[in-house]
Amino acid sequence: MGKVLVIGAGGVSTVVISKMASMPDVFSGILLASRTKSKCDAIAEKVGKDRVQTAQIDADKVPQLVKLIKSYMPDLVVNVALPYQDIHIMDACLETGVSYLDTANYEPREEAKYEYSWQWAFREKYRKAGLTAILGCGFDPGVTSIFTAYAAKHHFDELNYLDIVDCNAGDHGKPFATNFNPEINIREVTQKGKYWENGKWIYTKPHEIHKPLNYPEIGPRESYLIYHEELESLVKNFPSLKRARFWMTFGQEYLTHLRVIQNIGMAGIEPVMFDGREIIPLQFLKAVLPDPGELGENYKGQTSIGCRIKGLKNGKVKTYYIYNNCSHEAAYAETGAQGVSYTTGVPVAIGAMMYLKGIWNKPGVFNVEEFDPDPFMEQLNLLGLPWVELHDVDLEL
Ligand code: NDP
Repeated sequence: MGKVLVIGAGGVSTVVISKMASMPDVFSGILLASRTKSKCDAIAEKVGKDRVQTAQIDADKVPQLVKLIKSYMPDLVVNVALPYQDIHIMDACLETGVSYLDTANYEPREEAKYEYSWQWAFREKYRKAGLTAILGCGFDPGVTSIFTAYAAKHHFDELNYLDIVDCNAGDHGKPFATNFNPEINIREVTQKGKYWENGKWIYTKPHEIHKPLNYPEIGPRESYLIYHEELESLVKNFPSLKRARFWMTFGQEYLTHLRVIQNIGMAGIEPVMFDGREIIPLQFLKAVLPDPGELGENYKGQTSIGCRIKGLKNGKVKTYYIYNNCSHEAAYAETGAQGVSYTTGVPVAIGAMMYLKGIWNKPGVFNVEEFDPDPFMEQLNLLGLPWVELHDVDLEL
């Protein structure tokens, strides 16, 4: 049992707070703080104001963070704001002696560069301070890495080939919208492709490699190889991997919009002058796109995210597919948020629970696959993200 400070009040946070508030035996106190306090108040109102306190914070300002943490003295700070805030919040946690959890690795605003180096650099400091930092505890990264650790623990002697497959077969009825923060999402999906093979990274043009893959209860969907951050830690933590790739489905309509957005310069992250002041085109675009937190009401269909793995067991080649399917409608009925916010928010609440219960609690900075997967996997089944295992099946990859 313990107190949490949750930073960020968007779609993911809505689910995190809803789940945490439903477990008072684990989360004895919840403070929700974000840049816009009215958004925190709206979430608190939804889940019951007596369970959640709210505050205003600019999480890019370490002194403000330190003051807020000292005034509340949580056991854990949970970052579901943006990846830009990771480093500031980790600094503030270190200064105040509080542990940390997030869902996405730090990226500098001026460059869409995905690597753990900045956060792994805190390892020694966190270890010496006796604090835990849990990195990447959403669905991907997060559950996909825990699925991989679970497969390695229970089903394989050696993992050789890993393909993470992420399908959103939902329809929100809008011509174009992103399922989480538009700025972060568009930066991620327009970068070059990259995968791990035979000890080195192979680069591709954005969306250059694609093929149809069959998803359970959904059917075939065109799937595009993109780089995703969990690959970096997984190839380090499972060095027997000969190849590790990440695939995501995109509809033609989404890709056409994305191409136009890029062609007309609206995905740019360099400042441009507009009406006598500097603006960043992608940040302006975010302001006019639908808010991902508001997509839930008419969202139909489901997501299917999992890991397809080939490796060795008792000297024999084995294939294995583990996945979760999540219905947008069911997520909305339970929390008022769509499926992508739900699949991200539930693992955040479970990760925080793992820390507060002392199960995932060791000094240092860790990616989620470095902890025991079993207690986390058990909670996924109980808290709305049940998983399915298939053995010795055609992986299509
Ligand atoms: P939203 O844009 O809906 O929410 C982000 C929230 O962070 C907003 O409330 C925003 O405040 C707040 N915020 C931004 N900057 C600051 C700041 N400087 N100080 C305090 N608060 C700030 O995003 P989502 O909820 O959709 O996603 C949250 C994060 O979750 C994403 O950035 C993404 O990296 C991560 N994610 C991870 C996934 C995974 O599976 N691992 C999947 C999906 C998302 P304001 O409202 O004032 O702008």
